[in-house]
Amino acid sequence: MAEENKKKAADDMPDWSDYRGVMIVVEQRAGKAASVSLQLLGEGRKLADKLETELMALVIGHDVRHLAEEMIYYGADKVYVSDAPELKDYRTRPYSRVCLQVLRDVKPEIVLQGATATGRDLAGAIATHLPTGLTADCTILDVEPHPSRLLLASRPAFSEKMLATILCKQYRPQMATTRAGVFEALPRDTTRTGEVITVENTMKEEEIAAKVLRFIEETERFNLEDAEIIVAGGRGLGGPEPFKMLQDLADALGGVVGASRAAVDAGWIEHKHQVGQTGYTVRPKLYIAVGISGAVQHLVGMQNSDLIVAINRDPDAPIFKTANYGIVGDLFQIIPALTAAVKEKRV
Ligand code: FAD
Repeated sequence: MAEENKKKAADDMPDWSDYRGVMIVVEQRAGKAASVSLQLLGEGRKLADKLETELMALVIGHDVRHLAEEMIYYGADKVYVSDAPELKDYRTRPYSRVCLQVLRDVKPEIVLQGATATGRDLAGAIATHLPTGLTADCTILDVEPHPSRLLLASRPAFSEKMLATILCKQYRPQMATTRAGVFEALPRDTTRTGEVITVENTMKEEEIAAKVLRFIEETERFNLEDAEIIVAGGRGLGGPEPFKMLQDLADALGGVVGASRAAVDAGWIEHKHQVGQTGYTVRPKLYIAVGISGAVQHLVGMQNSDLIVAINRDPDAPIFKTANYGIVGDLFQIIPALTAAVKEKRV
């Protein structure tokens, strides 16, 4: 029956046989690829292998040619590079012009981008112009094999209470943006080889209305998504003050502070620290959950961390089911002792 349904899905669709391959639109800043793009190459590799097709990457910017090789090391078979002074900083029109030109020429069946501020803007512009469908903010991707070759793009829906799987049967390419930290990048393999194709930028500076006058660097550079160590606090902290204690531990470990939604909703810490379904999805090497019970909406944001340590005074707290190591006790005793031990070891 399932086979029959798949065949029917394929029969209902137009003939898309001239669209083949999976393409990742790479996000870069100052010549460094965003981690979400590397994670997408890892996931895109799986999808391309399942469809028995090639994985392509599109790199746009100025002085970014070196990224082509990097994208191959992270899984791409073929990399399209558009490198021009007009493309130095992200602007919707010149970037979408390059994307549209490549997508119309190459005809990939699937196009994926990070659901970052840039990715959301660019993906929306491209999908509108092609035109095709776009599933934003996906957390799970899969494909149905030949003959339908449909992208199964899943994302939280209905106030994040359900997971909806969205298909794009009537248009190509099938487009999706995905959250950072959800997928895993492949190990960088410098023995991999691939093809690099140059794409000319056809848009002149005088045609571009938006001008970048200057960049104002943030004084505090805080990046939860890329942190290797996160010390996260929840309602168990009881107020904003104890977050200073967590910051001390995070500083001693060389990490950053995260939080549960309960702590954020209480106004104890800013939303940019929130981990979970309505916060950031993280994948650090070490995640220390302090005074966090382990609600499913929190777990979806951190369960892929390499090592999880939970500190909670309730031995039955659900977080212990997900943690690799658990410490049952009062966080107000454990955290200072842990910080002192880490500092002592450092000296
Ligand atoms: P609690 O569940 O209250 O847990 C506090 C824990 O602290 C308890 O286990 C307690 O035993 C422990 N504790 C208390 N005192 C101490 C002490 N002195 N020492 C040690 N341990 C102590 N939540 C998120 O985190 N992120 C999200 O993105 C998110 N999105 C959501 C989206 C939706 C649509 C909904 C409905 C909910 C969402 N939530 C999210 C909320 C989630 O369901 C939980 O309410 C929330 O995660 C609970 O936060 P908490 O674990 O800090 O608090």
